[in-house]
Amino acid sequence: MDLTKDLVLATLAKVQGAAKLGEIAIAGGAVTIAASPEGGSREELGRAMRKAIAVLDGVSSVEVRWTGDLPGREISPTDPLPGVKNVVLVMSGKGGVGKSTCATNLTMALHRAGFRVGLLDADIYGPSIPTMLGVTGRPVSMDGKSIEPLSRFGVKLMSIGFLLEDPKAAVIWRGPMLHGALQQFLNDVSWGELDFLVLDLPPGTGDVALTLSQKVKVTGAVVITTPQPVATDDVFKSVSMCQKVNIPILGVVENMSYFIDSAGVKHELFGKGGGQAVADFAHAPLLGQVPIDQSVREWGDKGTPVVQAAPASSIARAFVEIGERLADLIAARHDAGAANEPGPLIDRSGGPGGRRRLPVTKG
Ligand code: ADP
Repeated sequence: MDLTKDLVLATLAKVQGAAKLGEIAIAGGAVTIAASPEGGSREELGRAMRKAIAVLDGVSSVEVRWTGDLPGREISPTDPLPGVKNVVLVMSGKGGVGKSTCATNLTMALHRAGFRVGLLDADIYGPSIPTMLGVTGRPVSMDGKSIEPLSRFGVKLMSIGFLLEDPKAAVIWRGPMLHGALQQFLNDVSWGELDFLVLDLPPGTGDVALTLSQKVKVTGAVVITTPQPVATDDVFKSVSMCQKVNIPILGVVENMSYFIDSAGVKHELFGKGGGQAVADFAHAPLLGQVPIDQSVREWGDKGTPVVQAAPASSIARAFVEIGERLADLIAARHDAGAANEPGPLIDRSGGPGGRRRLPVTKG
């Protein structure tokens, strides 16, 4: 049967709990479905719709663009980002766990899912967003006051990397200058109206998160870890730091969770369970597990995140589901009135009533 809008509609009509459908677009084998979740789960509805359509003859990719309103954070009259509904920090305890990779792919996944998204590279000591998104160039100011963000693949971007004379040179600015630059990125960049501003934070428990939490009300943090204890030990500290400065932990992504070889055999190269352990510690959901896949690194090096370069791949789908789960979670937290609450205190004592936090020094 020919791949037509009618066939797509008829197939979607059989999907249980189907979302309210908008426009269906078919270009070659690529099917794009606009849909509103109508209070349902974007992740579950999206997965069911993608699964149903992917098996139709001639379909090469299926994407769902979510319409409808996404609730946002509390915005005070002095908020530097009044048009930004959600500010999401992407954090990790250590470098090299794939924090920037996850930040860029999550950004692209949210964008491709229909949200208006910006990405702020707040990893001021090691900005990698310019490379991962293949962007060079300098931000300009039209009015001498506000700075226009750069743009790539429909996403607004800002990075300290855009301001360096030589991108290969080490950042030798002193802390206060970097913090000043970061503050300027929040105050002076014309981010406009966004559903999400994703911030790629430097690794560790550093003071950037603390600075940010004092400047802007963030929706929360997504914590990236790899499965092995040497990574998770440091991640526990980042989680504690967030609790200390009242940044809610929205969820945990376990990156490099496993590797599937050419024979289809799964290898857990870095052990297993780390992501769930961090999620349990943070009393937050495990948003997803991302396998090790050569294409992630290759596309990252080429300046096109894998979600953008190969949206039909299973690795892209993993990021899309993480994005949808994040949107669901933000909506659910809002409905539960918890949008502005920090995460719960963590019981690490093992004893009844013994709630305590790991010691973290402020500032
Ligand atoms: P971080 O920001 O935590 O320092 P990066 O995002 O820069 O880490 O990732 C470090 C390296 O690992 C990069 O070369 C990146 O392409 C690669 N990488 C990250 N995640 C994956 C993955 N799931 N599969 C394969 N390579 C990955």
